[in-house]
Amino acid sequence: MYRNFFSLFIAMLFCASFAKAQQYTPPCGTVGEMAEELIVRLLQNQATLAENDGVTYRTTQYVPVKFHLVGKNDGTGRLLEHYAFDQICALNEDYAEMDIVFYVKGGFNYIDNSVTYENHANTPFILTANKDNAAINIFCVKDATPTGDGLGTTLGYYSPGNDWIVVRNDEVGKNDATLAHELGHFFSLPHPHNGWDSEPYDVSMHGNPVQAFSPNGPPSERQDGSNGTTAGDYISDTPPDYNFGFGWNDCDYDAGTMDPSGEIVDPDEKLWMGYFLHCNIDEYYFSPIQQQLVLTDLASSQRFYIRPNYTPQHAIISETPALTYPIDGATTDNYNWVNLQWEQVPGAQFYLLEISRIASFAIDPVEVIVYGNSKIITNLQADKTYFWRVTPMNEAYTCAGSSTIGNFKTGSTTVSNQELSSVNQWSVAPNPVKANSSLTINVDASVSFTATINLRDVTGRQVRNIGDQSFNLGQQNREISLSGLSAGVYFISLDSEEGRTTKRIVVTD
Ligand SMILES: [Zn+2]
Repeated sequence: MYRNFFSLFIAMLFCASFAKAQQYTPPCGTVGEMAEELIVRLLQNQATLAENDGVTYRTTQYVPVKFHLVGKNDGTGRLLEHYAFDQICALNEDYAEMDIVFYVKGGFNYIDNSVTYENHANTPFILTANKDNAAINIFCVKDATPTGDGLGTTLGYYSPGNDWIVVRNDEVGKNDATLAHELGHFFSLPHPHNGWDSEPYDVSMHGNPVQAFSPNGPPSERQDGSNGTTAGDYISDTPPDYNFGFGWNDCDYDAGTMDPSGEIVDPDEKLWMGYFLHCNIDEYYFSPIQQQLVLTDLASSQRFYIRPNYTPQHAIISETPALTYPIDGATTDNYNWVNLQWEQVPGAQFYLLEISRIASFAIDPVEVIVYGNSKIITNLQADKTYFWRVTPMNEAYTCAGSSTIGNFKTGSTTVSNQELSSVNQWSVAPNPVKANSSLTINVDASVSFTATINLRDVTGRQVRNIGDQSFNLGQQNREISLSGLSAGVYFISLDSEEGRTTKRIVVTD
């Protein structure tokens, strides 16, 4: 949240310095018509809540989220995956009181489009085309300004019309409050300062005691609660707020502002839905009625599409994986074929693998989601030191600790990695195969070619070379003796001048 708050603060300074000359730009873009649409939904949910006499049914609800990671045309600039995973972890803490568990549905969607990245409002069709109709959609972009006016100070917004969230890349991560807030909008919650979105309270403009009506129309909410359901955010357990948070520098608003009846107002600075930035990060919350409204919204017919009959993997992962290859400080044989390996840990469905030239992973890290506990990396440079770590995760639990940081140096030799195009398809059988038996490979070639059949162990070291073999157009078999090979994982490849094609085999005792 601090990163968020800091950037919000900078945005505010920017706004403040132009406030006289330009219109105030709120940090959250869910304002104006969007806020009005939200109020319609809020009032529906309030009516439902009143009919049902509150929310009584409580059980853990798993809610699918689709992150759309938008980059430039060449794929650069987009949010690194670990920020989205960190964000899911943080959101699940923020919404834990409501027993809502968000999960990453079906991995991430990658969009490479420079216009969408810089100014998504100019490419609504790209967002529409990518929308997942069975998840909450979150588009992560460089600039989240909803109108495309290029001011660039909007941190994020929820659009009720499009039913999606757009957020700035630098607002997504472990401590960022923006998405907790925008998801609140998704579930029909307005700002506690509803009515003051376009014009924060200013004593010279709005008086003290404050004028009877907010700049956007609703009555100014009163401290005694007498108009709590008909003014401001229409939610009775959130006290009056005339957009005091914008620019206020601590967690206690005490400017002595009075409501229309002359009573000093005391806003709740710790509401996720407000704009106060300087409270303890762990103390932000949703009020009890806000929580009931979120649950009512989630239970509504309009939200049927995010209530799939599906329980994602959600086990809490308490162990961290041990890195097994390359061993720390080792030099690999090749630089363009490095097989990173680690031990599996209970509860992990996949691992986030991070590789970087520096131990902080701060510069040009590579992030890969790996199903299984090894990954062959083919795009490293020769004779360089690399750092790497893996973090175990499952769809709904993305809070686990990472492995230790390993390091290795790449060798200087290369192996051909280009996929062998002479081969339509090929297979090995049986697989797994018993030690000291033989393996049959079947090759379907599109042209005749010559290749060496090689067996390598998991470290990339060659353990057997079957010599040059001629393959003809069409189908053919070769039998390979495995005598003398110990049990374990190996890679069998057809290597020619033109390229290589590899399969993984398991030799059992
Ligand atoms: Zn907002």
